[in-house]
Amino acid sequence: MAGNTAFMIVGAGLAGAKAAETLRAEGFDGPVVLLGDERERPYERPPLSKSYLLGTSGKEQTFVHPPDWYARHGVDLRLGTAVTGIDPDGHHLTLADGSRHDYAKLLLTTGATPRPLPVPGADLDGVLCLRRLEDSDRLKETFRAASRVVVIGAGWIGLETTAAARAAGVEVTVLESAQVPLQRVLGREVGRIFAELHTDHGVDLRCGAQIARITGGDGRVDGVLLADGTRIEADAVIVGVGVTPNSGLAAAAGLDVGNGVRVDARLCTSHPDIYAAGDVASAFHPLLGKHIRVEHWANARNQPKTAARAMLGQDVVYDGLPYFFTDQYDLGMEYTGYVDPDAYDRIVFRGSTEDREFIAFWLAGRRVLAGMNVNIWDATVPIRALVASGQTVDERALADPEVPLDSLVRE
Ligand SMILES: Cc1cc2nc3c(=O)[nH]c(=O)nc-3n(C[C@H](O)[C@H](O)[C@H](O)COP(=O)(O)OP(=O)(O)OC[C@H]3O[C@@H](n4cnc5c(N)ncnc54)[C@H](O)[C@@H]3O)c2cc1C
Repeated sequence: MAGNTAFMIVGAGLAGAKAAETLRAEGFDGPVVLLGDERERPYERPPLSKSYLLGTSGKEQTFVHPPDWYARHGVDLRLGTAVTGIDPDGHHLTLADGSRHDYAKLLLTTGATPRPLPVPGADLDGVLCLRRLEDSDRLKETFRAASRVVVIGAGWIGLETTAAARAAGVEVTVLESAQVPLQRVLGREVGRIFAELHTDHGVDLRCGAQIARITGGDGRVDGVLLADGTRIEADAVIVGVGVTPNSGLAAAAGLDVGNGVRVDARLCTSHPDIYAAGDVASAFHPLLGKHIRVEHWANARNQPKTAARAMLGQDVVYDGLPYFFTDQYDLGMEYTGYVDPDAYDRIVFRGSTEDREFIAFWLAGRRVLAGMNVNIWDATVPIRALVASGQTVDERALADPEVPLDSLVRE
């Protein structure tokens, strides 16, 4: 493998692929090595719980680049290759086969891993999660064969998977420990809208549920037992209770770690030649004034571009506002901004929540912290401008669909 002029990227997901692309686009002509422990070349994960799972898009459409892109751009893509150690001061890393490789600069884009459910029975056959392409394939097969499934966790992955299962004609029970779906990210008022969306589509949604164990016979799942003694039968159980950042390598190398790999606004870790981006990075955000770790596609797409430029010595910081999207049944939405669970006073709605065509704004004082447009399009740019401006707004104007959103941002 390449010598110590090499820029190495650990983690061949979306973030890793975008970093390699940017290094070449910026004219870097030294060795670029992209190391990934999966067998597939870098792909995008959002379709895995939406179009790919629904069968409306194919595998080829999930990949970040065509197969020959890496060779054409001189990117040494090593798949099925797990990095097991990093020596920051020695500027080398170790692979699972024991080999040692020198680098000049290193980028960590190791992403995140689904959190296991800490209850008995979680290791039975038929207890599934969703992160990788093969997980989505397994779910697709399950939806073909199963008549009823239980989904544990009403977060984004759990709800999107539920919508796909319903589209396949499968009966779904969703078990959620909070009072409404997505409570931690959206709060109760908006979480309730997602609860109705799913019950309207025939989902048996049970909030406030405490799981005692996953049950099964002959090693195969057959249901879920709740703490109150209720038993729900299931042909498969899908667990979507969040992810843990893959920061073990960084921690073992002595880098600062805390809810991910800690990086500054240039995406540089506590070692000057090691950077991190994407789901694994807890990055200092200059507009928000604190470290945040974002588990979304747009962050994994954009943050590595800044990291690559910083690795090349450019004077750059990452100040993109978090953005994400979801599609469930006939509801499409985009969310822009950042709100800690208890950091807002109230939510202002513009449009009709009943018809599921509205924009929700999270406010602290008279400032907009985030906005979510549901089945309304072309709203992201003015929402981003409102949030980034930090300006106070007139609540009545914010709620009035007749007042153009971009007129609310003063020059
Ligand atoms: C099913 C699903 C649906 C999603 N839908 C949406 C959506 O609708 N909207 C949205 O905004 N976001 C969505 N996301 C989130 C988005 O996909 C992630 O934010 C994005 O994938 C993060 O990219 P990443 O490159 O940082 O990490 P990852 O995609 O996790 O890639 C990291 C890669 O590094 C590899 N790796 C880890 N450790 C090592 C090691 N030691 N050696 C070598 N390789 C290693 C991992 O195996 C993995 O291949 C979804 C995620 C999932 C799973």
